This record gives sequence, C-alpha cells and structure tokens, in this order.
Amino acid sequence: MSVTAATSPSVGSFHPCRRSTRPAALPRFRISVRSTAVSVTPLVTELRKDCATPLPLLRHVADAMAADMRAGLAVEGGSDLKMILSYVDSLPTGNEKGLFYALDLGGTNFRVLRVQLGGKEGRVIATEFDQVPIPKDLMFGTSEELFDFIASGLAKFAQNEGNKFHLPTGTKREIGFTFSFPVKQTSVDSGILIKWTKGFSVSGTAGRDVVACLNEAMERLGLDMRVSALVNDAVGTLAGARYWDDDVMVAIILGTGTNACYVERVDAIPKLQDHASSSGSTIINTEWGAFSKGLPLTEFDRDMDAASINPGEQIFEKTISGMYLGEIVRRVLLKMAQADELFGDSILEKLSTPFVLRTPDLCAMQQDTSDDLQDVGSILYNVAGVESNPSARKIVVEVCDTIVKRGGRLAGAGIVGILQKMEEDSKGVIFGKRTVVAMDGGLYENYPQYRTYLSEAVTELLGDDSAKNVVIEHSKDGSGIGAALLAAANSKYHSYDS
Ligand code: ADP
Ligand code: MG
Repeated sequence: MSVTAATSPSVGSFHPCRRSTRPAALPRFRISVRSTAVSVTPLVTELRKDCATPLPLLRHVADAMAADMRAGLAVEGGSDLKMILSYVDSLPTGNEKGLFYALDLGGTNFRVLRVQLGGKEGRVIATEFDQVPIPKDLMFGTSEELFDFIASGLAKFAQNEGNKFHLPTGTKREIGFTFSFPVKQTSVDSGILIKWTKGFSVSGTAGRDVVACLNEAMERLGLDMRVSALVNDAVGTLAGARYWDDDVMVAIILGTGTNACYVERVDAIPKLQDHASSSGSTIINTEWGAFSKGLPLTEFDRDMDAASINPGEQIFEKTISGMYLGEIVRRVLLKMAQADELFGDSILEKLSTPFVLRTPDLCAMQQDTSDDLQDVGSILYNVAGVESNPSARKIVVEVCDTIVKRGGRLAGAGIVGILQKMEEDSKGVIFGKRTVVAMDGGLYENYPQYRTYLSEAVTELLGDDSAKNVVIEHSKDGSGIGAALLAAANSKYHSYDS
C-alpha cells in the first residue's frame, strides 16, 4: 500500500549544515558540550531501568493478556479487554466476485479503495486507492462534519472509476467500512461507537450507529451506495490476509493506535448467548489497546496520560503505538533539557509543544549511522528547534531506542499472550503447525527497529522451536482489501457459498 510513500521521512531533505551558518549558534553551544556528557547519563540509565522488559516481565504481560482475554469472553465488561464480537463468522474463500469499495477511517489517514474481484481464478483483477490525511480540525468537530468529509471523499473517488471496474446492472456499489475505533457491533453492518480514541474528540457520535452516520452523510450528498459490512481494521487485516493464506489466525494493527483480533471458537465464548455460527468459529476484536497490566511505566507515561483526552484509558496503546512514542520521547528530552541542559541554552519553546516530535522522526533519527549524527542534529533542530552536539544526539538516539524497544517488546508479549490463550483452549491449534500473525499499520510497516524488537520478544517468549512455526508477516494492504472482501461476503446482491 502506498502509505510508505506518504509517511517515510526523507532524511535527505534536511539541511544539516544550515545551522552552522547562523552567527549565534556556536558560542551558545559551548556550555552544553560539557554538561551533557556528565549529568544526563544518570537520567538515561534510570530511563533504561524503568523501561526494561526482561523476559520474566514479558512473560507476566503475556500471561496477563491471556487472562484478560478470558475474563472479557466470560462476561460483558469482565476485563479491560472488551473482546468484541465482530459478526464475521466466515472468512473470505476466494470465490468472491465483482466490484466492491472499502473506506478506512484510521487515526491519521482516510483511505478509499475499490477492487474488482475475479473469484478463485481471477482473484484481485484490479484495484485502485486514494489516501488523504484526516484534517486536524475534524478530530475535534461535529459528527456531521467528520462524516460529510468521509462521504465527499468517497463521492470524489467513485466519480473516477476506471474501465477495469464493472458494476452489474441492477446492483449498487457496496462498501466495506473500516472504522478503527472501539465499536460495539450490533450486526455485520451496524455498530455503536463506544468511545473515541487516538486523540479524537468528535461530538455527537458516541452511542450512535456509525453506519447510520455514514448513510445520512451519503444521503445529504445524494450518493447512492450501500454499506454491507462495518469492519474493524484488525478484522479487515485478518480477512485480507486469510484470502491469500489459510494459516492466518491472528491480526495485529500497529499504526497510530493498536488493536488485535483472532479466530475464536464459538464454544469458548461464555458471554455469547444467541449467536449461531455455521463455521463454529468467529472473529473476536480484542480492543487490546485498553490492556493495562504489568506494564513498565514511567513518570513520562503517567504525565502524558494525565494530559490526554482519555486519561486512564488505552494504556497499552499509549505505550506501544505510533501516536504516542514520539510524544513520550519528547517529554523525556524536555526534562533532560530543563534539568541537565542537554541542548545547552537552546530555547525550549518548540520542544515544549505536545506531539511536536512524531514517531516517524524517531524512526528517521534511528536510521542515522554517521559518526557525528548529522541527521539527528538536523531533525532536532528542524522539528524541535534545539541545537545539539554529537554527545547530546547520542543520548537522544538512546532515548528513542529505549522507548521504541519497550514498545516493540511489549507488543510482542501481547501477541504471545493471544497465541498462548488459543493454544491453552485447543491443544495444537497454534504450536506444532504453521501459524501466521498478519501485521499492518504504519508503525510496523516503517520502523525496522520496532519490528526487530517485537520479533525478538516473540522468539524469546516462545523459544526457538515454537517460534519457528509462528510467522509474523506484514499484510500489505490487508485491511483495505479485507474490508472489500467482507463487503462481498455480505453482499445483498451476490452469494459466494459454493
Ligand atoms: P491509521 O490507520 O491510524 O491512519 P496508519 O496505519 O496509516 O494509521 O499509520 C500511521 C501511523 O504510523 C502514524 O501516525 C505514525 O505513528 C506511524 N508511522 C508512519 N510512518 C512511520 C515511520 N516512518 N516510522 C515510524 N512510524 C511511522
Ligand atoms: Mg489503520
């Protein structure tokens, strides 16, 4: 998917030398050279200690995740994990045929996609998509404004349908709507928004059916399309990945936020009363971002949480996902700058601005392998407005690494928790055979160190033998196609059972 193009930071576009031409830069700088080397070190050491994720801690997190899953399946509200029923009982078979659309409202981007499916033989015949960032003001506006934006994006995209796409006469364009916020599904094509997350605070949507909100916006525009499936992004990823690979059992999103879903046996869901599934299994959307047990948190995490629009909520998400890693690092650096003059006497106004340092900036800094960390210096200057010498930059990279390592390893522990729970319930369902965990999201896709830390933690926890059979795989474009496939599976006009 072309998210890479939109998100990968171009280190080359920074101008490392520009700073040195500013007359005031050098003299102001001298003090910091002496002070950083000595006094900041204890803070870094302390941070490393507070964020450490040794194996016993990871094991505890994995066990707690498995226990929370079980508690959430037992009774409604039984745990931090909502363990939401997706109403997706059958995964794509490959027989799906026709033209389908998908809409994806993430935390950062809004995507539209169409796909012409050609059944077992033709598979994905053609696909087109478009992506735009979600305007900041819509995150704090009204429900109508947000859904009007979605509907008009869809309308524009639908107008330019190429000739590779064909809609049978007498049918409507059907949509799989991926909505990456906690929703209590009431059927496969309706669901009530439980709460906004990832910094969104839109008025008038909580407690409403988000499909009805979209339908109303489409009506306001005179757009005649039909939402056939409301799909959580993790569920869409699982469906999309399963289309190509039968061994996919779990899907994880690591983007702006985070979530996980997996294939569960219906008889392992005590809270389920009147849900019949012909396949005997169903997909559970864990909403694991709300997990909170046994996490190694620091004052920086607690302060960030307290200042957030959802204090006390989504603690796992705030520790491991893309929206927050940059902000945690910013808070650490600000303290080091204030307490220990990490950046000499640089003005700290920009660095004091919440969320000014973003996770893609951390990622770009961690790719700098030069001796004097020129790129790190440029990013710090351009993004956070601070001067730095090489020893300060080295400390900055260490801070990034500490926070990213903790995030990646905890995400790995969460994955093992899910696998563990599945295996405990049905011996042999996970271990002893190939099992695929489908991954998607901008953080996982673009941050190599994060990916490495995640997979190292999984291997440490599972041991080499079991880990060999667990394939953690990036599912490119998974959730978009997945949502379209689920729209096909729930089409009003087609049936693909055979
Ligand atoms: P969403 O579906 O929530 O809009 P995406 O899956 O597109 O999110 O991921 C976007 C998020 O991924 C960004 O908010 C950012 O946190 C993270 N991200 C994007 N590019 C990078 C990068 N180069 N390095 C690290 N994280 C990145
Ligand atoms: Mg997404």
